[in-house]
Amino acid sequence: MKPPPLKDDCFALPPGVAWTPVDDALARLRDRLHAVTAVETVPLANAAGRYLAEDVVAQRSNPPTPNSAVDGYGFAAASVGEGVQIMPLVAGRSAAGEPLPGAVPEGHAVRILTGAVLPEGVDTVVLQEDVTVEDGRIAFRGPVKPRANTRKAGEDVAAGDVVLGQGARLRPAEIAILAATGVHSVPVRAPLRVGVLSTGDEIRAVGDDALPHQIWDANRPMLLSLLASWGCRAVDLGHVSDDRAALAERLNDGAGEVDVILTSGGASAGDEDHVSGLLSETGTMELWRIAIKPGRPLALGLWKGVPVLGLPGNPVAAFVCTLVFGGPALRLLAGGGWRTPVALTVPAAFSKKKKPGRREYLRARLDNTGAAEVFGSEGSGRISGLAWADGLVELPDGAADIGPGDPVRYIPFASFGSS
Ligand code: AMP
Ligand code: MG
Repeated sequence: MKPPPLKDDCFALPPGVAWTPVDDALARLRDRLHAVTAVETVPLANAAGRYLAEDVVAQRSNPPTPNSAVDGYGFAAASVGEGVQIMPLVAGRSAAGEPLPGAVPEGHAVRILTGAVLPEGVDTVVLQEDVTVEDGRIAFRGPVKPRANTRKAGEDVAAGDVVLGQGARLRPAEIAILAATGVHSVPVRAPLRVGVLSTGDEIRAVGDDALPHQIWDANRPMLLSLLASWGCRAVDLGHVSDDRAALAERLNDGAGEVDVILTSGGASAGDEDHVSGLLSETGTMELWRIAIKPGRPLALGLWKGVPVLGLPGNPVAAFVCTLVFGGPALRLLAGGGWRTPVALTVPAAFSKKKKPGRREYLRARLDNTGAAEVFGSEGSGRISGLAWADGLVELPDGAADIGPGDPVRYIPFASFGSS
């Protein structure tokens, strides 16, 4: 089962807009993109990290029966008054997985263990620590709260309730609640296949020899590992030089193999910017000039129906744009719904003045007081700053004059992407 393709104009921008604010660009992606992955039913054991394709209903209540929350003694609350209570114990016990076969008569108590079904005649449990046991009787102090130390049937989830909604990501806790409510297979989206392609005459693959005018491809391994960490099926589409025919051929191959393609380099409007050139010639392409630093030109288009996100070549810009735009967009394409990354408001451990006109992302990390410090250089070629950082400080589109202690938005790297 395959969802309908994206519309040709899905990346169209309103006419006359020179620099698109980040929020407008995000709103466009949110409006225009939808899940593109197939739906399949998989056993729960293979479902980790997937997105639910439909709401899932509890097959049975959790817990299925009223049971004891502690090790102790059970009885009917109605037979307990104030002060010292003495009750004869019935023979046997109710243990987890081994219920008492009979009922407990009024005024009697039964030994009961954590997780054991409450026998007929029992609605309340007293902790074993609050009880003395002697000669087949127990003594404890009343009054007791009716239903104390017990769990009601279905108090967590009732049979027939929607336990998880469409688009939920199956993390360990989601797997647990599905298992507990008797769901053993789930309708999920196939993993999003994302191709990663580098462009540029100067780029050499990692491991190859590089002359002084050549550089090793940092973007491809960076993006492949980022995508894998998001639960995508990252597909290495290699590297092509600045050659339109070679690029077209590689995009053709990629389009047959993946659901979305990320390219890096060649996305602006220069002579050697063949990603944007080619997409506008033969595909459906929009060059998004986004008011963002680092970043700016983002070439968005469809190649044979497959969305292509043309990232800037600078590794820092490519990384930031992938986090900011790729994270939410890929989540939507993968069937997980839109998600805005969680930002923390923390004190700045730096000073910075910025002019209005574009949003800025600074490589940042928290110091041991919880304040955000930023990397010493804002140069977008400074890959070491990405490795130094744990997240980004997001500065607003407008002007800002930040001093130590001022509140800033800090977004951990882990907040971007799919979880
Ligand atoms: P471009 O967007 O193609 O003009 O590239 C901008 C800058 O990023 C140039 O300095 C490129 O050499 C560099 N660059 C492009 N692609 C990569 C890559 N895959 N790895 C490292 N640097 C790159
Ligand atoms: Mg280039």
